[in-house]
Amino acid sequence: MVSKVLIANRGEIALRVLRACKELGISTVAVHSTADNAAMHVRLADESVCVGPPSARDSYLNIPQIVAACEITGADAVHPGYGFLSENARFADILEAHQLTFIGPTASHIRTMGDKIEAKRTAERLGIPVVPGSPGAVTEDGEAMKIAKDIGFPVLVKASAGGGGRGMKIARTEKELPHALATARSEAGAAFGDDAVYIEKYLEKPRHIEVQVFGDGAGNAIHLGERDCSLQRRNQKVWEEANSPALKPQQREKIGTICAEAMKGLQYRGAGTIEFLYENGEFFFIEMNTRLQVEHPVTEAVTGLDLVHEQIRVASGDGLSLKQEDVTFSGHAIECRINAEDPRTFVPSPGEITHYHAPGGLGVRIDSAVYRGYRIPPFYDSLVGKLIVHGRTREECMMRLKRALDEFVLDGIKTTLPLFRDLVTNHSVRRGEYDIHWLEHFLDGEV
Ligand code: ADP
Repeated sequence: MVSKVLIANRGEIALRVLRACKELGISTVAVHSTADNAAMHVRLADESVCVGPPSARDSYLNIPQIVAACEITGADAVHPGYGFLSENARFADILEAHQLTFIGPTASHIRTMGDKIEAKRTAERLGIPVVPGSPGAVTEDGEAMKIAKDIGFPVLVKASAGGGGRGMKIARTEKELPHALATARSEAGAAFGDDAVYIEKYLEKPRHIEVQVFGDGAGNAIHLGERDCSLQRRNQKVWEEANSPALKPQQREKIGTICAEAMKGLQYRGAGTIEFLYENGEFFFIEMNTRLQVEHPVTEAVTGLDLVHEQIRVASGDGLSLKQEDVTFSGHAIECRINAEDPRTFVPSPGEITHYHAPGGLGVRIDSAVYRGYRIPPFYDSLVGKLIVHGRTREECMMRLKRALDEFVLDGIKTTLPLFRDLVTNHSVRRGEYDIHWLEHFLDGEV
């Protein structure tokens, strides 16, 4: 078992990891920037090390400082959380070279899945259904046109190195294709230093459904069901549920088994998420995330498992705590990502929290690192907390969510709480009838 974990992150996820370590009797080391001196993860950790100035590049992404912090404190493992260094293969390599345990997959799996073309090829080889498209990068416009005509317009041009929705362009007609290729290439080149692009069929009204997987690195793997993250704004998830209101148990079982078998084939280690677009009863792989996701608590709520405990077990070489037949699903869970943003314009709203009262009661979980008097720094993402609600049925869950949202007090800054209060009573949301574009139409007043 690892004995001292350095948490290379901040905010709610740093606290989330810290809680799991404490429960397992593992010592914790927090790292922080000078902007986070008073942060909750720093206060609650056994030890803390300041690793640099506010800019993430000089602190939370500063690999030499983080490795030095491990050496100074004697930490033997690093949990990267999500974002920052969590999908940085070089970081995983460097930790290994220093005999430090990276609580995550192998560097080589991070690399494979970080390159979208390589990821798609690997997924297909492992039997996962993918979006029809070019077999690899397209370099010539003539070749691109032939492929696009074969799969049929509209098509999507995507950057192989893409992330956060950047380097992605739709071509609805043949005429639009050369421009889409050129802009996707130049955007990708500028953002990622790699202008390789590929082509995919553009799906018009899909849902976003992702499968949580876990492997032990030795060929055993399980799935923990799916999450439906179709309510998105600019490719950012806003509201997530488990299970998906769109799937029947047999469909869950089928896609889950495909994913678990693929992870066995890959000898995958640790937590991973296989993301799909789902349309007309069919799944299409878009990418795999090789880390813990923001929305993992909804899976915890319906399975009763602690995913961070499981990550630490696997990283310690103790294998998975359960087999597929031991995984059971109970009830329904919804997560709302509460951001320090204007609920209509989404302009960030950093500043001091003057009043704070979090909801409680049966089936209500808050993952947040804020408190009254806390000043949200302007340097990082705007997530202030996640409200996760569990109920025996989706209806009960919605009822409880509405109640919890009504109780929530978070003053001094603007938050997206009012948006969730609107969504929870919305007819389409109540019926679970939405695709990945629905929320943007709703915000534009079109639905
Ligand atoms: P990124 O890593 O940049 O987030 P993804 O491949 O995960 O890129 O895609 C981000 C989002 O773009 C998806 O959630 C979906 O909304 C949209 N998208 C991606 N591929 C397609 C496609 N083939 N058809 C329609 N929408 C797509």
